[in-house]
Amino acid sequence: MYGYRCKKCGKLHHPARLVCDKCEGREFTEEILDGEGTLLTYTRVHNLPAGIDKPVLDFGIVQMREGVCVSGQLDIDGEIYTGMKVRATEGVVRVMNGVEHTGFIFVKA
Ligand SMILES: [Zn+2]
Repeated sequence: MYGYRCKKCGKLHHPARLVCDKCEGREFTEEILDGEGTLLTYTRVHNLPAGIDKPVLDFGIVQMREGVCVSGQLDIDGEIYTGMKVRATEGVVRVMNGVEHTGFIFVKA
């Protein structure tokens, strides 16, 4: 997982941006994020779109340790609660027309 730090003001972004929303800078350096974060909010989706072969899906927004927020699926057995520590993994989140789409899947840290 990468973050993108503005060379002009130092603000970290995720995902990548063309223009910094703080200073309008246009140059960024890539930084590896450690993948650890805190679950800010989540929802459980019962009526899933085609390509997701699960009865329900938990989806969350995570504040990474470096400060940026990242959204992704949750793969957590048991109770899910805001404030819990999670870790990002990457995996197949949907299959559309035979094509696997990957994304972030957060697991309990
Ligand atoms: Zn900036």
